[in-house]
Amino acid sequence: MNTEELFQWSERYLAPTYKRAPVALVRGEGARVWDSEGKEYCDFLSGIAVNNLGHCHPEVVEAIRRQAGQLLHVSNLYHIEPQAHLGKLLVESSFADRAFFCNSGAEANEAAIKLARRYSYLRHGEGRSEILVMEGSFHGRTMATLSATGQSKFWEGYAPLLPGFRHLPFGDLAAIEAAISPQTCAILVEPIQGEGGVKIPPPDYLPGLRRLCDRQGLLLLYDEVQTGMGRTGTLFAYEAFQAPPDIMTLAKALAGGVPMGAMLAGEEVMGAFTPGSHASTFGGNPLASAAAVAAVQVLLRGELLENCRKVGSYFLAQLEELKGQYPFVKEVRGKGLMIGMELEVPGGPMVDACRERGFLINCTADRVLRFVPPLVITEREVDRLVAALDETFKIL
Ligand SMILES: *Cc1c(COP(=O)(O)O)cnc(C)c1O
Repeated sequence: MNTEELFQWSERYLAPTYKRAPVALVRGEGARVWDSEGKEYCDFLSGIAVNNLGHCHPEVVEAIRRQAGQLLHVSNLYHIEPQAHLGKLLVESSFADRAFFCNSGAEANEAAIKLARRYSYLRHGEGRSEILVMEGSFHGRTMATLSATGQSKFWEGYAPLLPGFRHLPFGDLAAIEAAISPQTCAILVEPIQGEGGVKIPPPDYLPGLRRLCDRQGLLLLYDEVQTGMGRTGTLFAYEAFQAPPDIMTLAKALAGGVPMGAMLAGEEVMGAFTPGSHASTFGGNPLASAAAVAAVQVLLRGELLENCRKVGSYFLAQLEELKGQYPFVKEVRGKGLMIGMELEVPGGPMVDACRERGFLINCTADRVLRFVPPLVITEREVDRLVAALDETFKIL
């Protein structure tokens, strides 16, 4: 299939749910990817915060190769060695005692929502099922996670949404406190909003939510689907805030590029699930689990986290400098290698111009350029991107 044909087949045979750039990526290595015409790109998007280890990390590739030749799938009716191993790794490096595996971020959040409601039901009986969620949040595209998502543009045409979610301003502790009622069972929040535009809450926000939950007997749920797996400079974003959750969800970078989600919780909370209360055919299957074990082991060695923190602050400083030169740059913000640059103008044309110059970035919330490169990115590559942005800003 030549490139022209590929574009035609994509347009002709696939659901029109994506607006695709006229590029077919065929190969990747580290922070580089190549398209079907041989053009090289420096990847500052990482498949939307998935390829945290870089493309085709040799240890992940080797784990997949080995597992693919041994056993791909068997179902959760049997013990699966890489899944148990992954559970141990995640539990030992987080607040949690147990893990449930699934295949995506939305499914991980579905599991978290179900567990929170069921825990509340077993403890307090019926009627205490409302979950407080944030405006501007993103939790996925299934009916429940869409209902939890705090952006009305995703809801159009899908009514009726699921009841039991109440949206409140992100970062506003007083609003949450005022909204807690006898029906409330949990608070669901992204430690840093990703799709909402890389929004960072005030420093006391998560600790404040933790205190509120402790005082009122509510569960605190963190959606770390995007912030997790080293993205913000620690394995999980909550570590920097000293406010652990009761339930946490992961996906995106969890398995080094293979689809996988996870929902983690402490012993007591996870105890609300018993055999049959929740399940997933593929969840934690041997292939995905083996990839995730390799990916997590690489992250646990720490060098990538250190590079993330170091290059992240360098990147932020460079973008700050750029901001000083262009009045239409409103704000630069981020943590580790999750960085947003908010513009006063639509970011789409900048994304296209950067791609033509050999850099993959994207734009979220209309006006926020988002940079989520692999954690192996170097300061030199950051310099090159910043120079490309500078050129782009001069022209546009
Ligand atoms: C991407 C994302 C999701 C949804 O993940 P999918 O794998 O696309 O279902 C949920 N929450 C957050 C914070 C995300 O960034």
